[in-house]
Amino acid sequence: MTENKPKCGTKKTKLKIFFSVAIFAALLFSSCKEKITEKQPDPEALLAEIQQRIDSLESFISAQPILKPATVGNGWGPLQTMQSVGAEFTQSLKIFNTLKDTVEVDFEKTLREGQVFWIGFDKKDTSKAVLFRYEENPATIHFLMLDSTGQWAYKIVEKPVNVRYAIYEGVLPPGGTLDKTLRSIGIPSEMVGVVNGVLECKINFATAQQGDKFKILLSETRYQDSVWIKGKVLYTSYAGRTIKHTETFLYQEADPKSSFNAHYTEEGEALIRSGLRYPLDRLHVSSGFGYRIHPILGVRKLHNGVDYRAGTGTPVYAVAEGSVLHSSYGEDNGNYIAIKHADNSQSWYLHLSQRGVSNGQKVRGGQVIGKVGSTGRSTGPHLHFSIKEPKGSWMDPLKKKMIATPKLEGAKLLALKEQIKASRGSLAKVEAAQPKSINDSLQATVKWIEI
Ligand SMILES: [Zn+2]
Repeated sequence: MTENKPKCGTKKTKLKIFFSVAIFAALLFSSCKEKITEKQPDPEALLAEIQQRIDSLESFISAQPILKPATVGNGWGPLQTMQSVGAEFTQSLKIFNTLKDTVEVDFEKTLREGQVFWIGFDKKDTSKAVLFRYEENPATIHFLMLDSTGQWAYKIVEKPVNVRYAIYEGVLPPGGTLDKTLRSIGIPSEMVGVVNGVLECKINFATAQQGDKFKILLSETRYQDSVWIKGKVLYTSYAGRTIKHTETFLYQEADPKSSFNAHYTEEGEALIRSGLRYPLDRLHVSSGFGYRIHPILGVRKLHNGVDYRAGTGTPVYAVAEGSVLHSSYGEDNGNYIAIKHADNSQSWYLHLSQRGVSNGQKVRGGQVIGKVGSTGRSTGPHLHFSIKEPKGSWMDPLKKKMIATPKLEGAKLLALKEQIKASRGSLAKVEAAQPKSINDSLQATVKWIEI
């Protein structure tokens, strides 16, 4: 018995090594699930098999890293997450940059609290990361491995997925919103956000009513039929008692990063909007939009913008991308700048002490275009900011939240028409599929075809 002990001990260590390798291998290729056989295995044969596998894996094991799960904390970035388990800053940055250069996903944007990365550290130098595993979704796993030359090698593991076109349709319940209704029938929140954002451009949802009908065509990528991987909203339709039938279509160009890739009406009107920046870092409204007794003229006059109190020299920003329509001086306006935006609206900035842009110049949203002053008809340093609508009337700038992207024209409009034809074709094919009820009270159904 005493003779056997060391042997037993060796076996235990080997078994331990074997299991740690098994766990490591499972982490690497978690699709390879061990099949549970009903038949009782022969213990001797099993031991022999384990021994054989250990022998072949021993050399492999000795180089294996120590794996640590790095969990994303609240508000954490990727670097902070990696450093939380002991990865060095420069290495974390290298891993992050290599991944960003290789993987098409927006790593920073998709990062969510509780998400786990696995980082493997060198056995001898435990502060040195040698392996990084990032699970984009249950079917897509990215690996970075430090090779012998000190370079990070990239490897992707993609499990088979299925793609389908699915039509979801139903009606709004009493007091229900489209947002809530879509969520309650199991449409992923990312898709719900797109549908809402697109339809909001055309529909005033405040007038939505019980019984309003919606229909959505999604392309869905699923893993093992049930796990949602990704999707696209190809088509939406909404019709209500007080809301006229509205349809939207996805338009895509060959370049996946084209800013024209968005949802449009059949006529080519863009249904995606970009937010506005504030014209100043700090906003103190000293006078709002509307009729008032003019402080200098003493008569009742439309104040066609908003006055923001600010010190002379405070930087003034363009609220959105556009081209400079006027950069000039006027008796009333003093030094002023007007920018024309993509939706043909204009933003005006008055009484500046300095102008930093010239006529015709293209500006980005957030770009400094001048400095606050008190030039022209002004009682003290402030920024008079106004918005002119495409049709030429002044609107309350505080009510302008968005600037729409442009309408499709020419060849792009023709391409949209072709894509609409294809979408209608897909719709017709899916319509022929057998509907499956999701929620009776919402009359909600889903039908799909595999593609
Ligand atoms: Zn003013």
